[in-house]
Amino acid sequence: MSNFSMVKVNGLLEDWAKREVGLQNFTVEHILSALSLPDDDYEAVFLFLRNKVGNELELKKMLLCPDGHKNQVVDLDTNVSEIYTDCMFCEEEDYDPFWVFVFSFSDNYQQDARKHASTDEKKKVVEYLSLVNIGAVNGL
Ligand SMILES: [Zn+2]
Repeated sequence: MSNFSMVKVNGLLEDWAKREVGLQNFTVEHILSALSLPDDDYEAVFLFLRNKVGNELELKKMLLCPDGHKNQVVDLDTNVSEIYTDCMFCEEEDYDPFWVFVFSFSDNYQQDARKHASTDEKKKVVEYLSLVNIGAVNGL
């Protein structure tokens, strides 16, 4: 049974949404890392975030090359058999596609959050961008 703090997750999302640098395509792992939560909380946090889809968040999937480079981000129902799998950043070609779930803020939520942010909050450095390791996502 997971006992992560919903208040802390909500606070983190609000904090990220307030920043001027656009935060797009973050994963459950980014949330877990930022809040020092154990991997065991993955599913509970994923479900918590998924319940925000359609309001605060959007849920898509992102293609990673074997070296972890971030390639296309597409809607969940996109037919991925026709996705171009040559990496945009390295030499990998025709690799076995590896997809991760990624969340981003809806325009409404981001605008609302920024409206209520101080100038300092809007300019905060985006610490999460240094977290380059994206783990596996099952079931996609
Ligand atoms: Zn690559």
